[in-house]
Amino acid sequence: HKDLDPALLAQAAGAAAPADLDAYWMPFTANRQFKQAPRLLARADGMHYWTPEGRQVLDGVAGLWCVNAGHARPKIVRAIAEQAAEMDFAPPFNMGHPKAFELAEKLVQITPAGLDKVFYTNSGSEAVETALKMAIGYHRARGEGTRTRLIGRERGYHGVNFGGVSVGGIAGNRKTFGPLLGGVDHLRHTHDLARNRHVRGVPEHGAELADDLERIVALHDASTIAAVIVEPVAGSTGVLLPPKGYLERLRAICDKHGILLIFDEVITGFGRLGAPFAADYFGVTPDLMTVAKGITNGSVPMGAVFAKSFIHDAFMNGPEHLIEFPHGYTYSAHPLACAAALGTLETYADDGLLTRGADMARPFEDALHALEGLPHVLDVRNIGLVGAIELEPIPGQPAKRAFDVFLECWRRGVLVRVTGDIIALSPPLIVETSHIEQIAGTIGEVLKAQA
Ligand code: PMP
Repeated sequence: HKDLDPALLAQAAGAAAPADLDAYWMPFTANRQFKQAPRLLARADGMHYWTPEGRQVLDGVAGLWCVNAGHARPKIVRAIAEQAAEMDFAPPFNMGHPKAFELAEKLVQITPAGLDKVFYTNSGSEAVETALKMAIGYHRARGEGTRTRLIGRERGYHGVNFGGVSVGGIAGNRKTFGPLLGGVDHLRHTHDLARNRHVRGVPEHGAELADDLERIVALHDASTIAAVIVEPVAGSTGVLLPPKGYLERLRAICDKHGILLIFDEVITGFGRLGAPFAADYFGVTPDLMTVAKGITNGSVPMGAVFAKSFIHDAFMNGPEHLIEFPHGYTYSAHPLACAAALGTLETYADDGLLTRGADMARPFEDALHALEGLPHVLDVRNIGLVGAIELEPIPGQPAKRAFDVFLECWRRGVLVRVTGDIIALSPPLIVETSHIEQIAGTIGEVLKAQA
């Protein structure tokens, strides 16, 4: 940009703004409201976005919890460009390409011990569907075809496909779409502001909520239950942390009854908590683990399921010429995604990003908790480099207060995420203390201004 004539630049910036907003039906967006006052992003680098007009916006959410290494990292950009020129696409069924295997080998070196097999998808939603099918198929392959029930959790988010919405626990995402998948139960969520408020890190109270699984087993019998799926830290519904001992207890109950444990690490994977995965952070290893987002630093769509070998091996017992797992996507192991992921892993390793969150967690925590006591702040919570500020809803206008804060932060040059009346933060893992101060400082000013 530096070399460009300012007049030309202004012209180019103007040209980037679309003349007509009608045709694009936007996802998870209030379309009519957005189109009255659109918010557009045209360029990104490091910790920042720029609007088509050239206004700089600090990225407080890593895009959408995915750009963990920051934007436009050279090794990732180069990997994608070179791969596009070398081979754009390769069919993933009955064929392979070297980078798909190379990436799988590299991934299983950084995943928690035992999660040694990788299945590629194109999104978190697809990873969830894949993991749920793997769980049911696993039991069937072992002669336990009655184990088909799936257990999710209230306020869980597992993407938008039918399986994920069914095990998910968000009424707004469920009620519009009919009966969903049968045979699904939900654990209660662990968010309890009466007992845990303004907690730094993992809350003390609520491990016993894992015993909901025992009640479901007592009701349906373990012989009907395939798997339990939870986000170790629920992200999309407002950064809800697992109480101390909760995940251990869930793991123990699953083991007792032969139920598979699935961690949905689409947000927590790839360094968000200051450890490579939440499973590492909490010292609890699931049987299946879903990832997406950070696997390619958000650059090319990709997701994956990691499976313990015993699950994979259970599928491998039939005749050799038959397909063991009748499932997959045209774009599984897409060459551009594999190249992007390889560039991403290199970038994470170069900068030590899979554990950098542990170093930055303290300044992040301090900056967030300095907002306690500001007008309408009900709760501040954090873990690693993810945090949330929960606000008191405006009576009769749920979600409006936080949305207004989001809009004003955007106007003041900071991008945050809003979910209900909760402001969520998850900056790129390259974040510096000055960025943290800008993010928390801006939110603080906005809360005071809107009091
Ligand atoms: N699971 C979790 C835990 C997520 O946070 C998300 C996305 N926010 C998904 C699944 C779905 O991922 P995608 O939007 O890539 O389908």
